[in-house]
Amino acid sequence: MNFLEERIIKDGIVKPGNVLKVDGFLNHQIDVALLDQMGLEFKRRFANKTVTKILTIEASGIGIACMVARHFGVPVVFAKKSKSVNIDGDMYIAEVESFTHKCKNQVIVSKKFLSSNDHVLIIDDFLANGCALQGLIAITESAGATVEGIGIAIEKGFQIGGTVIRNLGYQLESLAIVDSMDSENGTIKFKEQNNG
Ligand code: 5GP
Repeated sequence: MNFLEERIIKDGIVKPGNVLKVDGFLNHQIDVALLDQMGLEFKRRFANKTVTKILTIEASGIGIACMVARHFGVPVVFAKKSKSVNIDGDMYIAEVESFTHKCKNQVIVSKKFLSSNDHVLIIDDFLANGCALQGLIAITESAGATVEGIGIAIEKGFQIGGTVIRNLGYQLESLAIVDSMDSENGTIKFKEQNNG
């Protein structure tokens, strides 16, 4: 098991409805040393890529994205969730369905912070059905920028997002891929990965 998988086993809680709670180190209280280790690991996995911006979505992607950005020496841009309908033309907009909150949000990024010259590494905490990532990819494409890769902390491998995104041809790197989890007895099984 790698460092993140070990931490998930230690502190993750499986909730009914295929939700994994990681509030103790990622989603509410944040273990900064752990996130820094994740940042370094993403830097290693995307070492051959030219990256000018890290793109994520508020709120829980921001911490990880900042740690990745530190290792690449580039800024973080985070997509904001917005309920407002009258958004002016200075924004890229995508529609994202929330897995955890079961609602639709518009997510927006100012045109000031993403352009066709940008090479984007997308980072997020979880991958479930892939809606959040599809929104971030759509925003990158609206800007005419290039998606260099996608880094996820925890992929739920039993949901379709990973397959959909890999089939689109992107380099998707997940630090932990959950194969199965059981809320009755709290067990979590990971997919074996060979990332030597
Ligand atoms: P997707 O758009 O891939 O269906 O879901 C990804 C988003 O939903 C992530 O940004 C994350 O915030 C949230 N999410 C999905 N599954 C889980 C989960 O099991 N636990 C937590 N804490 N968040 C999740």
